[in-house]
Amino acid sequence: MFESLSDRLSGVFDRLTKQGALSEDDVKTALREVRVALLEADVSLPVARDFVKKVQEKATGQAVTKSVTPGQQVVKIVHDELVAVLTGEGDPGALKIDNPPAPILMVGLQGGGKTTTTGKLAKRLKDREGKRVLMASLDVYRPAAMDQLAILGQQIGVDTLPIVPGEKPVDIARRAKTQASLGGYDVYLLDTAGRLQIDEVLMQEVEDVSKAVSPRETLLVVDGLTGQVAVEVAQEFDAKVGITGVVLTRMDGDGRGGAAFSMRAVTGKPIRFVGLGEKMDALETFEPERIAGRILGMGDIVALVEKAQDTIEAEQAERMMRRFQKGQFNMNDLRMQLEQMVKMGGMESVMGMMPGMGKMAKQMEGAGVDDKMLKRQIALIDSMTKRERANPALLQASRKKRVARGAGQEVSELNKLLKMHRQMSDMMKKMGKMGKGGMLKQAMK
Ligand code: GDP
Repeated sequence: MFESLSDRLSGVFDRLTKQGALSEDDVKTALREVRVALLEADVSLPVARDFVKKVQEKATGQAVTKSVTPGQQVVKIVHDELVAVLTGEGDPGALKIDNPPAPILMVGLQGGGKTTTTGKLAKRLKDREGKRVLMASLDVYRPAAMDQLAILGQQIGVDTLPIVPGEKPVDIARRAKTQASLGGYDVYLLDTAGRLQIDEVLMQEVEDVSKAVSPRETLLVVDGLTGQVAVEVAQEFDAKVGITGVVLTRMDGDGRGGAAFSMRAVTGKPIRFVGLGEKMDALETFEPERIAGRILGMGDIVALVEKAQDTIEAEQAERMMRRFQKGQFNMNDLRMQLEQMVKMGGMESVMGMMPGMGKMAKQMEGAGVDDKMLKRQIALIDSMTKRERANPALLQASRKKRVARGAGQEVSELNKLLKMHRQMSDMMKKMGKMGKGGMLKQAMK
């Protein structure tokens, strides 16, 4: 039904045969197609527009790698950006459930899959994390909903709070809390009532319940097929009760994942799980790559991206070598090195390959330079202007302060980074002087 994005793009780039940098016009034309693809995948217009603008800035002027087409390269840039936006902090599946009994509030509209997801989550916590779980339905408007949860509980072997007819939602929540404490449960899940639409009464009720139990997590369950509506629902729930994450259901359907993207871009809330069917084990932690691939509508996106990645890295290394040979080593080069180190997991593995660098690597490791530290250093470089990155000598005291603050760090840390850069730069210059075919080139092979 949909023409895949790669098909569209190869059309755009067919006429572009010469290799070189991606021109602004080419990128613009390509990104028009990307925007249509995003809209077809149900991403909202303002989100798509914003996203395309960001990608355009990234892509324009990028050197085209030799063994992938410009179209593929734009797809890769788009893919990476999608993943970057979709990725939240930390592990999406790790819920805050220390300090038992931890309350988890499940909220959302009726029919979104809230009760089903409550059951799935309870099962997951029990089976995978060995937690003792209690579930309670607060849906006093539909007795069938309470029975539904009780039946699910029996099926998956999770206790449910006994139903007391006529009890108010807030009182049920309090009773669940007491029961969870007395019964030695680790977690209790509160399945709140949904409505067909958001209304004041519903919101007030959820708010009251939330105040009564102070949930550790408030998870919004929404139907992933409803696209833009899901995003609006998320915004309203977040404004009223504050959600800590989203569960997108019906992602087993033929929706194209755009809702996930808009959701994340608009609300900034992490997507924690996706529902992939009606069965109790059809709940998975959210994987940004998968959704990105789906939005782009290409089965082979991962392979393509990996191929492009390899090529781009090889060409980057080559370019960098040429620069080193000329004795050039600026903050952009340093950033690339640091990133490489994060990827390869360790200083010695990368620097050890270069003569003279092994010792420095050991020193750095001895000084407690690890992944986290590397990422902090990268953040410092990112907080510099383009000109400063090209020529760090431009950094005067006042700018240093701002750069450090921009990265949420102290000036002393920035100074350390600058010192490291100077040392490495000196080393590069020395090696550069050894000339073509010298030690550096051999070491990089
Ligand atoms: P609630 O009103 O929000 O509690 O919604 P329910 O949990 O009762 O779910 C409504 C319907 O959606 C039920 O028929 C569920 O089996 C179905 N459902 C829930 N989650 C999923 C999912 O991830 N995939 C599919 N295909 N169906 C789902």
